[in-house]
Amino acid sequence: MPRPILATVHTGALRHNLGIARERAPDARVWAVVKADAYGHGIERAFEGLRGADGFALLDLAEAERLRALDWRGPILLLEGAFEARDLELCSRLNLWHAVHCNEQIDWLAAHKTQQPHKVFLKLNSGMNRLGFTPAAYRTAWARLNALPQVEEIGHMTHFSDADGARGIAHQVALFEQATDDLPGERTLANSAAILRHARG
Ligand SMILES: *Cc1c(COP(=O)(O)O)cnc(C)c1O
Repeated sequence: MPRPILATVHTGALRHNLGIARERAPDARVWAVVKADAYGHGIERAFEGLRGADGFALLDLAEAERLRALDWRGPILLLEGAFEARDLELCSRLNLWHAVHCNEQIDWLAAHKTQQPHKVFLKLNSGMNRLGFTPAAYRTAWARLNALPQVEEIGHMTHFSDADGARGIAHQVALFEQATDDLPGERTLANSAAILRHARG
């Protein structure tokens, strides 16, 4: 039997929180990072509260499809990118940004036949140690992607491991800047704790 636990999430509260994120990062665009099934709340319900975001970042291709079915035309980012080569077709069809965090994903792109060039975020492992290229491997990965006709835009992303802890984010920001400074493309870094605790200015 399931335990009788109930979580009530008010869409108005989501809307409010999105407003706070905007206030704290006035010069940035804001991804609503809803992960998988909007943390169990369901993408449709979360969408109601977060439709004012500039984009949605999630894990599951089927959910990206559901968002498009809700008529969301804006950016969608697949946080872990493609899980297998054939995912790339759906990425093209749904016009998704997708993360590239390992060489295998670059191999799949290189072999992918597409009319529609892809928009990707290359992921740097700056200390979370979950996904992404090491600082030493980052440039080579970028150069490989940049040489592919299948790829039209390359942004840069990383994820903070200690934004709400004593260590903070400075060491990871420094690694990110070193790795990406002279490269073109959008940057996306800050999770909620970084926005709340380490906002610039
Ligand atoms: C999950 C995730 C976020 C959001 O983290 P929160 O702590 O929920 O704000 C941001 N960026 C990336 C790359 C993520 O994977």
